[in-house]
Amino acid sequence: MNAFNSKKPNSHSPTAKKEVRLNARAVSRGIAVGKIICLHGRKRQFYKINLEASKIEREIRRFRAAARLATRQLKKICTDKSDSTKANIFDAHLLILGDKSLHSKIETNISELKINAEWAVKIVTDDYIGKYKSISDEHLRERYIDLEDVAERLLTALGGGGKAALSLEKNSIIVAKEVMPSTLIELAESQPLAIITENGGWTSHTFILAREMNLPAVTGVKRILRRVKNGDEVIVNGYDGQIILNPVEENRKKYQIAAGEFQRDKIAGGETAKGKLLTLDGQEIKIRANLDLPKGYAEAKRFGAQGIGLYRSEFLFNQFKGFPTESEQITAYRKIAKLAGKEGIRIRTFDLSVEQLADGTEEREKNPALGLRAGRLSFSHPKEFRVQIRAILQASTENNISLVLPMVSDVAEIRRVKKIIESEKDKLKRRKITFGNPRLGAMIEVPAAVLTIDEIAAEVEFLCLGTNDLVQYLLAVDRDNEAVAEWFRTLHPAVLRSLKMVLQAAERRKIPAVVCGEMAGSPVYVPILLGLGANELSMNVHSMPRVRQIVSKIALEETRELVKKLEICRTADEVEIAAAEFYREKWAHLFPDEIFPAKNKSKK
Ligand code: PEP
Ligand code: MG
Repeated sequence: MNAFNSKKPNSHSPTAKKEVRLNARAVSRGIAVGKIICLHGRKRQFYKINLEASKIEREIRRFRAAARLATRQLKKICTDKSDSTKANIFDAHLLILGDKSLHSKIETNISELKINAEWAVKIVTDDYIGKYKSISDEHLRERYIDLEDVAERLLTALGGGGKAALSLEKNSIIVAKEVMPSTLIELAESQPLAIITENGGWTSHTFILAREMNLPAVTGVKRILRRVKNGDEVIVNGYDGQIILNPVEENRKKYQIAAGEFQRDKIAGGETAKGKLLTLDGQEIKIRANLDLPKGYAEAKRFGAQGIGLYRSEFLFNQFKGFPTESEQITAYRKIAKLAGKEGIRIRTFDLSVEQLADGTEEREKNPALGLRAGRLSFSHPKEFRVQIRAILQASTENNISLVLPMVSDVAEIRRVKKIIESEKDKLKRRKITFGNPRLGAMIEVPAAVLTIDEIAAEVEFLCLGTNDLVQYLLAVDRDNEAVAEWFRTLHPAVLRSLKMVLQAAERRKIPAVVCGEMAGSPVYVPILLGLGANELSMNVHSMPRVRQIVSKIALEETRELVKKLEICRTADEVEIAAAEFYREKWAHLFPDEIFPAKNKSKK
């Protein structure tokens, strides 16, 4: 199968395309030179594949099976819904889906253009949608929304069964509006070189994963899918955020050398860490790994990781394409806990959203970040939650596993989970199954948890500061939405005050508090965290060498002095300016590049 269909660009030919430079936001470091592969789709992502003639029949059968599945789902919704408005909407979807000419156009496209079913669905439905959008009658025009829904349902159904995993050509650079974490995990097998997207914040799970995979990534490139096509050559600079489309020979060569060096360093890994990590004035700082893919732990260990500070168990959900069984979970938790050794692992229970669970029969949430997510979703799926608790209990026999609850907003949630744990222990006891006693902790990432931190700290054995969500919820800024990226102000006074409250509460109760949001892996933010009282940081593997370097070259005393200056600031801008001044004055040798550049530049 060949994923590319365009002619190879040739910079020497008279028709060669012009080199174009675009500015983006760098969200994962590194350099890559490769060829573009455009990803489409929202829930189930796909790209154009040119099929061999022998695969056409099978592809048509795959489309028909998906159409049947989508029809069954819609029929189920229509019979379930007591509400007549909803029933009418889904009846209309059924009519569209049942339209014979839609089917035959899709099948004709598959066989004549020799393309995958997803691409054929896209071509045909895009065409219908375009026609509806140009109708002058408003009522009729609005029907394009129904078509979009049906197209999405068909595409999702195509991902539902028997489809080979996505695999990319060598040297592919993924371009998409946004990439879902599950897609990235699937595509990682074929080792793409970089990612370019329109959307997605620094703390979005996709870019957290990209950094974990050491995969250069840039975001914030408006309408990128309209500017490029499969096979176009591109350079991605994940350090300064620049993209060069159709590079001239000279630039291609120059960047190929840099990309080669980046790849060699990636394979060789950074320097091996030795001994405890101490600040200049002797304060020990514990560094742990945020790990979603077990294979990264050997490297984390080499960089000085003292165990795994955050294991996002929902990545298993992506891997198993649904809730993993009890025994699948026990195996996965044991495997990763064994890697972590006696330093231990903190397993966070599933932090999933309804959208990730959706089989197409439920309505989309308007505000998924405020919806049935994390612990709330676990409570609403008691059977699956109990399976997870039992699996963690059984995997805990070496006593190095801790259990963390995501998005806690009320101490009552912790008490409720404690009861569930006790009842599952009783059941295991009755069945004479061995289990351990994992320590229990809470993610502090919701403002309500900060305001009730003393009550929460009294019920748990440790705290995890999830700064990604904490910033999102404190400032009411969607962490995944490019349009509000400039409002995501990590150094907002409200964030600093919240961090301090939590760290002080942990200190009062004499329990550990680990900062495990992306802030902990940012060399620029780390001195501020230390000055606020943090002494445990959990971060993605590739941030470790640089964070270690910074920590070992600053004194705790200095970080306290820094925080004193920041605490009197009234706005995020003031904090950033005060911090940048302090860094320039005291630590110019550690931060040779401009600090907080984007923000301050625009202010000057
Ligand atoms: C956080 O919110 O900071 C965090 C660590 O969890 P996640 O990024 O998975 O939401
Ligand atoms: Mg979170």
